[in-house]
Amino acid sequence: MSKSSIVFFCNSCGNEFAKWSGQCPACHEWNTLVEATPFLKQERGRSNNISSKPAETFSVKQALASQGGYTFSTGIGEVDRVLGPGITKGGVYLLAGQPGIGKSTLLTQLAISIKSDVYYVCSEENPAQVATRIKRLSKNETGNIHLINTSLVDSICETIAKNPKSLVIIDSIQSVFTNQNVTTPGSPSQIRDSASLLIQTAKEHSTPLIIVGHVTKDGNIAGPKMLEHMVDTVLELSGDRQHLLRLLRTVKNRFGPTDETGIFQMTSVGLEEVKDPGAILLEGRVKNAPGSCLTMIMEGTRPLTVEIQALVVSSPLPIPRRIAKGISLNRLQLICAILTKHLHLPIGEKDVFVNVTGGLDIKDPGADLGIALAIISSAKDKPLSGNSICFGELGLLGEIRKVGFADKMLKEANTLGYTNIYSPNTHHNLKSIPL
Ligand SMILES: [Zn+2]
Repeated sequence: MSKSSIVFFCNSCGNEFAKWSGQCPACHEWNTLVEATPFLKQERGRSNNISSKPAETFSVKQALASQGGYTFSTGIGEVDRVLGPGITKGGVYLLAGQPGIGKSTLLTQLAISIKSDVYYVCSEENPAQVATRIKRLSKNETGNIHLINTSLVDSICETIAKNPKSLVIIDSIQSVFTNQNVTTPGSPSQIRDSASLLIQTAKEHSTPLIIVGHVTKDGNIAGPKMLEHMVDTVLELSGDRQHLLRLLRTVKNRFGPTDETGIFQMTSVGLEEVKDPGAILLEGRVKNAPGSCLTMIMEGTRPLTVEIQALVVSSPLPIPRRIAKGISLNRLQLICAILTKHLHLPIGEKDVFVNVTGGLDIKDPGADLGIALAIISSAKDKPLSGNSICFGELGLLGEIRKVGFADKMLKEANTLGYTNIYSPNTHHNLKSIPL
């Protein structure tokens, strides 16, 4: 390879540089420059033809009139809910999630439920494996799914160009490659170049494209950060592999809302839509046990009841442990500090463990009060009344602060029959809660 064909490519912003440096000169992130080959755009025969053709123009009226036929339903209610209008023609979607979380299962179910003709690119598995999964997930005929057995992006694009279908699924972007880039599949520049070609083809032929992207251990989508900027919508499928619940969220959505969450349950016949997630989350709950507290959080625009458990025990260690599962450790340490300062709760020499049941990962600060009450309940060995539920954010002064959608949560708590509701509406600080 000649010296001039090597550039350094920033994983974060996607800029290319002739020289390596520890910090990206453009976005100032550290350690993001990797060796790559420059993208050979001009070598594509077709792109030359396209650039010579004048672009089409539309009046606003024409554009609005054509909008109706631009989206179609996926046939899966929870997916449509998250996407907003359904799938948009020519839209490019990135479905991210940890390996084994159910991305391929969800997309196979989607391909089955759409019923119109779909390309499913098997680059990670062989067609027989995909076919076995399709057969397992569908009782009916699935003649609408056309499996493409290649990892070469250039041939995938040719297939789409020759005979466009109503949806193309690429499983996954880390395992496909284009001949225009000499690096191995999965390398940042390879992902960028492959995605770029696929996106261009999708837009040219108004064919929606769903790309699967794996997530690394630290929770980022593997490959260049710019992949997220290149696509129209970024969907994230998350959950705990040891548990049944799976959440589908939009991280970015050019076509609809970003605050909706689809809730699924993993079963032997694929992902099933969940209408009452509370029932799954509270299954097997021990009532009237010290250390258990029910709290309400918002998942998208839906209130969800979850159980928070705490265990406070004497510590044999000079520095007691604070261990959190399902909430951030910083949050737990902060809440322990608030309890020590404002309630004089004697947990300074105790280990504090907190767990959110059902494998959920809670970021909603409205769960603060629930975490605090679970810890108090365990420390005092006193159960909360069986009919109680709470929500509210804790301030550093021990005050209970208002959270978004409080009315919705109150209404839900009343509907579910909880009589003791601790919330910012009823209590203004921790001291006023009798426990
Ligand atoms: Zn950069």
